[in-house]
Formats: sequence, structure tokens, C-alpha cells
Amino acid sequence: MRDCLFCQISRGEIPSKKIYEDAYTFAFEDIDPKAPTHVLVIPKKHLAGLKEATADDAEIIGRCHLVAAKIAQDRKIEDSYRTVLNVGPGSGQSVFHLHVHLVGGRDLRWPPG
Ligand code: 5GP
Ligand code: ZN
Repeated sequence: MRDCLFCQISRGEIPSKKIYEDAYTFAFEDIDPKAPTHVLVIPKKHLAGLKEATADDAEIIGRCHLVAAKIAQDRKIEDSYRTVLNVGPGSGQSVFHLHVHLVGGRDLRWPPG
């Protein structure tokens, strides 16, 4: 998608602090971090969100979570982090390119707000 913010970030057309990249996924620091670790993991292929996903997207959604787990391990927060998918405007989703938030490095309360 030409005008999608996260497509442009994954193509390097808009700068970001890249953490990880492979053939399928791209991970970068959130511009407005809510925790010491706040990384966004996205599929390179445009996908609006979980609501729009189909069975064909199962693998890429899994890959995004596994990348988050790897980054958490690299940062030694593997026993205390959260992966979050906001779905729809009512949940706070503001960018309509699926992204897994990896949040950690501080006390995480339950339930989330
Ligand atoms: P959402 O609210 O859709 O679940 O999450 C979108 C996230 O993207 C927010 O946490 C927001 O701070 C982050 N974000 C929005 N625009 C940019 C940007 O241009 N660069 C980066 N690195 N993060 C962004
Ligand atoms: Zn996109």
C-alpha cells in the first residue's frame, strides 16, 4: 500500500529505529514508547489488522509474535513482557497496518486499561 505509514516504514521510505528485519517482518521502536521496551513488529505485507486477517495470514501473524519473543529474549525481559494487538478504533488502534506491540521492562498490571 503506497500511502500506508507502516508500509512506508518497512520499505525504509520513512525513517525508524529498526530493531530487526527478515524477509517477512520488520520491527522498530515505537515513536511514543509506553515502557522501556516498546517495539512494534509488523508484517512487510500490508494487512489492515487482526479483524481483516484470514487463514492465509496465520503464518505471518505467528511470525510477528515469534519475532517479538526473540527481541524480548535479546533484551533479557523474557519473563515479563506483553504482546498486544489493538483491534479497531475503540481499542486504540490508530494505524491500520497490523502491528504487534512488544511492551516490557517495567511492572505490567493486569487487566490492562
Ligand atoms: P495502535 O494505537 O494503532 O495500536 O499503535 C500505533 C503505534 O504506532 C502507537 O504506539 C504510535 O506511537 C506508533 N506510531 C505512530 N506513528 C509512528 C511513526 O511514525 N513511527 C513510529 N516509530 N511509531 C509510530
Ligand atoms: Zn501497510
